[in-house]
Amino acid sequence: MEVRENLHKVQRQIQEACSTGGRDPREVTLIAVGKTKPVEMLLDAYQGGARDFGENKVQEMISKIPQMPQDVRWHMIGHLQTNKVRQVVGRTCLIHSVDSLRLAREIEKESEKQNLVTNILLEVNVAREESKYGFFLDEVEEALYSMGDLSHIKVCGLMTIAPFVSNAEENRAVFRKLYQFYVDMKTKNIDNMNMSILSMGMTGDFQVAVEEGATMVRVGTGIFGTR
Ligand SMILES: *Cc1c(COP(=O)(O)O)cnc(C)c1O
Repeated sequence: MEVRENLHKVQRQIQEACSTGGRDPREVTLIAVGKTKPVEMLLDAYQGGARDFGENKVQEMISKIPQMPQDVRWHMIGHLQTNKVRQVVGRTCLIHSVDSLRLAREIEKESEKQNLVTNILLEVNVAREESKYGFFLDEVEEALYSMGDLSHIKVCGLMTIAPFVSNAEENRAVFRKLYQFYVDMKTKNIDNMNMSILSMGMTGDFQVAVEEGATMVRVGTGIFGTR
């Protein structure tokens, strides 16, 4: 019960942030991040209307998939090792965490084998934190052009994990910077790219991210409680 109430509260907060930021709520998808939480809690969220679920570990996602209804859309949001790509391709609607050209090439190879096209986002380390994965902003455009050769991936947009801060306002500049870059990339005609998703904002800062242009927010703690 509590999970559903939390979910609906987060949905309301997204709507409020949309009003504040002049955004259309239909442009924002909430991803319920159930990592470390039992399937029973994920099912609560599902019954409350959630259809997009995020996991950061391959093994956990693979074990949860058969336990959840078939119409769930699974998002891989955590760092992905190349040797686990085989398990993920064909099972996710979107891989948010592509942080190297090498990983993109591995996804290409496996997608070709399975005769499908995999939707991905490039993870961007906007604040250049040493502890984080992702391309630096000044590397992304070149990476996008390189991925123009990989016809079994579709680069749908960008993702970032903003710094851990006590006041979400501190991340506004980070979100704004990535949004501006996203808008700039939208105007480019690059093969295998359709820049239409901006995945940013977590429990601590999703409202600011929505105000600044996020089209996907990834919320775990705010829905399922602390881990
Ligand atoms: C865990 C996680 C989230 C959700 O974090 P919360 O702060 O619990 O909302 C979002 N994105 C990624 C990549 C994560 O690993």
